[in-house]
Amino acid sequence: MKAVWFTLVPMLAVAVLMLWGGERMARRTTEERVPADRGRLFDFTASFREELDRLDALYLQHLDELAAYAFRRSANQLSPHCENTVGIRKLLVFGPEGKRYEADGKKPAIGESSRIPQVLTESEAGRVSPKRAVVIPKEILEGNTPGKGWLAGPDSSHRVYWFRSSELYLVAFVIDQEELDRCLEAHCSTWMKVPFSPLSEAGELVSIQGPSGRPWLEAPPETQAGPAALVLPHRTNLGEWEVLAWDKLKIRSQHDPTVLASAACIAFVLSLAGIYLHAQQKRALRLAEERVSFVNRVSHELGTPLTNILLNLDLARRALEDRPAESRRRLSLVHEEVQRLGRLVSNVLTFSRGERRTLELRSIACTPDEVVEGILAQFQPSLDRRQVRVEWQRGASERTRLDPDALSQIVGNLINNVEKYASSGGWMGIETSMLGEQLHLRVSDRGPGIPADQSERVFEAFERVHRGVSEGASGTGLGLAIARDLARRMGGDLLLVSSDKGCRFELVLPATPALSVITQDNSSVA
Ligand code: ADP
Repeated sequence: MKAVWFTLVPMLAVAVLMLWGGERMARRTTEERVPADRGRLFDFTASFREELDRLDALYLQHLDELAAYAFRRSANQLSPHCENTVGIRKLLVFGPEGKRYEADGKKPAIGESSRIPQVLTESEAGRVSPKRAVVIPKEILEGNTPGKGWLAGPDSSHRVYWFRSSELYLVAFVIDQEELDRCLEAHCSTWMKVPFSPLSEAGELVSIQGPSGRPWLEAPPETQAGPAALVLPHRTNLGEWEVLAWDKLKIRSQHDPTVLASAACIAFVLSLAGIYLHAQQKRALRLAEERVSFVNRVSHELGTPLTNILLNLDLARRALEDRPAESRRRLSLVHEEVQRLGRLVSNVLTFSRGERRTLELRSIACTPDEVVEGILAQFQPSLDRRQVRVEWQRGASERTRLDPDALSQIVGNLINNVEKYASSGGWMGIETSMLGEQLHLRVSDRGPGIPADQSERVFEAFERVHRGVSEGASGTGLGLAIARDLARRMGGDLLLVSSDKGCRFELVLPATPALSVITQDNSSVA
């Protein structure tokens, strides 16, 4: 049975995929920029600039004071001052005739000392020409007016600040720009906690780019969608900063109803097709199983009477001379078994003709009670043996036109079932009556009955309340199906009606003096 799921499950999976893919295809997302209130940003940037300017002025003032102090001091005296000032790697004092002396600042980390550039005068540079050097131009060195300024280093890691007093001495500082940046960043990150809080509370998308290209404040992840909406730069002697701000993005998601409806329709159709195929396969599988079981049952049903026939014939032959009564009894049992075989064969033939659409009914003049009497007579010995008392209320003794063979097959199947399943009740009731132009026939018993939930299913071919070959009485599961089919082909019906105990089957057939019987091809047979 599991094999049938191999159709339904993949088709349902495809339907789900279809729905999912359709939803993705139908989805339209639009991004809308929501301009932020820039008031808070401008306030912060103003105070940030102010702070940077203050630090810049403070630092330069410190360098200027140190430069003024350096005049006529020894290198040993200057070194502690240099070590205590952020970023100073070297201090050099030049006279008009060239370098006078130099003092070291804080010791650089291992590996960094080779990066500190040398500071040379133009005449020194012509002689030595080292790779990493900052050359002080002649006009700065030999100028006689006070001044100060910056000289770029061989790379962005170091710069030189020069300061010249009116006494014609020039002081140069080698500044480690990276250390200075780190120190500024550490200071500012503490400083900005308060002024930046209104922006972070409002969820504004802001970042700050430091002078070394490193972000001081990382851009929030939502900003990766595009470039900043506003860039506020600021420049001091110590470096360049940028405050960047983004607008918030509002993402709207809508679905194209046509695409969505098409995907839903395809998924629905696929699911329906899957369910339909699944049901068909299940049915086909069930039918195949039933047919196999049917063949088993027919073989079983044929085997039992044949054994009985052989046995009884043998016993009858032996008793023929000495005990003729016993011999007659045995022969009548053989007769019963042959009739049983005949009914079985006729049921199988009727079913197979019905299946092949070759079943034809004939309508001839007959008396329903006589037909019932004939079939009842066949069962009487067996019913007597099982001590089933038969109570028959006759009421259909008029001659009517119907198919007597079909009627006797229906009644035979009903009585056969009483014999097989309800003999324990010890009673069978038959009622026949003519109501208007209808024959009513009722067969009742006081056996175990049929559970209400099976009352319709027992009329389906191969359906049995007890399905196993060895379970309960034997049978093919065709009797009631054939009986109802014949009744309906004759324009009537066979129903199982509720009763207090046992079963009660009601047969209704059209029965007029000029009865029209509906045949397989729907043509009327008189
Ligand atoms: P089967 O060949 O099995 O007798 P039927 O179509 O005649 O097939 O009957 C279908 C099932 O209905 C039987 O297997 C039996 O379980 C149940 N049934 C039919 N008639 C009676 C009855 N009078 N009492 C109890 N059960 C019955």
